[in-house]
Amino acid sequence: MFEQMGSAGLQDLHFCQDPQTGLQAIIAIHDTLRGPAIGGCRFIGYPSTDAAINDAIRLAKGMSYKAALAGLPHGGGKSVIIQPPHIQNRAALMRAFGHFVDSLQGRYITAMDSGTQVSDMDNIAESTPYVTCTSAMGDPSPSTAQGVFAGIRASIRFLDGTDDLNHIHVAIQGLGHVGYAVASLLHQAGAQLTVTDIDMLRVQQAVKEFDARAVSPDEIYAVKADLFCPCGLGGIINQQTLPQLQFRCIAGSANNQLADDDSGMALHQQGILYAPDYLINAGGLIFVALQHAHYQDQVIQQKILAIDESLHELYQHARADNQPTNLIADQRAEAILEAAARTQHEAA
Ligand code: NAD
Repeated sequence: MFEQMGSAGLQDLHFCQDPQTGLQAIIAIHDTLRGPAIGGCRFIGYPSTDAAINDAIRLAKGMSYKAALAGLPHGGGKSVIIQPPHIQNRAALMRAFGHFVDSLQGRYITAMDSGTQVSDMDNIAESTPYVTCTSAMGDPSPSTAQGVFAGIRASIRFLDGTDDLNHIHVAIQGLGHVGYAVASLLHQAGAQLTVTDIDMLRVQQAVKEFDARAVSPDEIYAVKADLFCPCGLGGIINQQTLPQLQFRCIAGSANNQLADDDSGMALHQQGILYAPDYLINAGGLIFVALQHAHYQDQVIQQKILAIDESLHELYQHARADNQPTNLIADQRAEAILEAAARTQHEAA
């Protein structure tokens, strides 16, 4: 366990169980040098406790990188609640999780993630102030979608020298909270859409509302489109999918899109422009972090839309150095985290 924490650079890992509510939860804090750790709470089933721990550690690290590149005064954290086979009282379970979060006295601020919803955050808020995405604050997904849309515009500008999306064809994987909203923004901008989801109702709705073409989940990788927008699960750019890809660019919201760093290098070698996931999908984090700090809506909006410029500038850097974009993003995030560690070390 310590080896695993060490290789991820994780500061600490917390466990909690509450037999009364069935709560079994893990909080992974990757970094607090730049401010309290912030990151969502997953509420999904896991095949094993190890799988849940791995997920929390991996995601917490990603949140540190995301907060660093977005210039937010936060480190990364993530929590998972292992979904029990039978949930007796969801509200009580979430309140118990809130006590767990509260016990860390503000070192970790929680938020919505896969499997959690605004009403869960309201229940958590009954036990702790270190929570975002309550009904008073709202769902971060529309902000994530806005950021992804800004990133898609930056990508097309980089490739084609124009902000006009009217000519482009986008393949969207996953029509959930973020994917559907991105589809809507792209449709309004005149883009042609091909979509897929394992939920046929969502696909049918997108076909009807956005005049989209539907393909099966397996077919999406080989669609001949300008841009692939993954908004489903992670790890989808891998040895199996890479040979199928004919897109000019990949820009979507899914976390951990690259199965490994080699996949980033393969995209670079295949001439496919890749928008580093934790840069392009930072809109939701920007929304929750700045809302929690009581920033005005207009300031939050500007910061989300600035994803356009940051991504475009990163593309230019990657092209000048002839390096994969994911590598440049990692190097930048690591430099920010190392600078914070040096400052702390010198102050001690
Ligand atoms: P969601 O659960 O609402 O939507 C995911 C969608 O993907 C669902 O409709 C699901 O049916 C579909 N899906 C799952 N497996 C699929 C497959 N194999 N093929 C096609 N479709 C599949 O989640 P979301 O909130 O929209 O988030 C989407 C992604 O973006 C996730 O990876 C999430 O971690 C990431 N993300 C979300 C936010 C946010 O604000 N919600 C912020 C940052 C990153």
